[in-house]
Amino acid sequence: MNIAIDGPAGAGKSTIAKLVAKKLGYIYVDTGAMYRTVALFLLRKGTDTDQAQAVADDIKDIVISIQYENGVQQVYLNDENVTGLIRTEEVGNMASKASALLCVREKLLDLQRKLAAEHDVVMDGRDIGSNILPNAETKIYLTASPAVRAKRRFDELSERGETPVLEKIEADIIARDKQDMEREIAPLKQTEDAVLIDSSYMSIEEVVAAIIDEASKK
Ligand code: C5P
Repeated sequence: MNIAIDGPAGAGKSTIAKLVAKKLGYIYVDTGAMYRTVALFLLRKGTDTDQAQAVADDIKDIVISIQYENGVQQVYLNDENVTGLIRTEEVGNMASKASALLCVREKLLDLQRKLAAEHDVVMDGRDIGSNILPNAETKIYLTASPAVRAKRRFDELSERGETPVLEKIEADIIARDKQDMEREIAPLKQTEDAVLIDSSYMSIEEVVAAIIDEASKK
């Protein structure tokens, strides 16, 4: 059984997907973390994402892999555990740019499909229901208004001791949505068979319950 959860940045996908996975005994696969890992690599190397060939050459030999430690996904760039390094806005924005490139998407496709073939998964991302797992038993499109999503990210960053600016976060979110929805390859979109959940005015528990209810119908 596979549950695909797609949606824009800051919709709460990872929080929700983790809880759904825990309740159902599935593994949670955060595909955004894989794109963020490629982005971290490109930022460190200083690769220009406008040069698709340079990106393709630079990422050719890197190995991105996933391991689970106490049930928590850890992402590796070659032998380095980068899980704690990929959560910045800089890396997220770079991930959005890099993920529009075919060479980057192709690099991560097999890893994502293999995890879903080997386990019951709750997988979140942008193109899981539309492209990676078109036969997923349950597909959810999880969204919330840009203002609500910006406030959630603001609170998350503040809790981490950072000093974010709400207006900047909202502007970044809107720019990232546009980039993710308008790209040519595997754009973010709600498929016809996906259930739309707008979490703007829902609690985490309500969203989790709604998804488990959907999955139980299959
Ligand atoms: O979900 P998260 O914010 O971690 O994703 C970072 C970026 O990676 C997204 O803005 C999107 O451009 C890209 N991504 C993607 N396809 C996925 C997951 C993430 O293109 N399945």
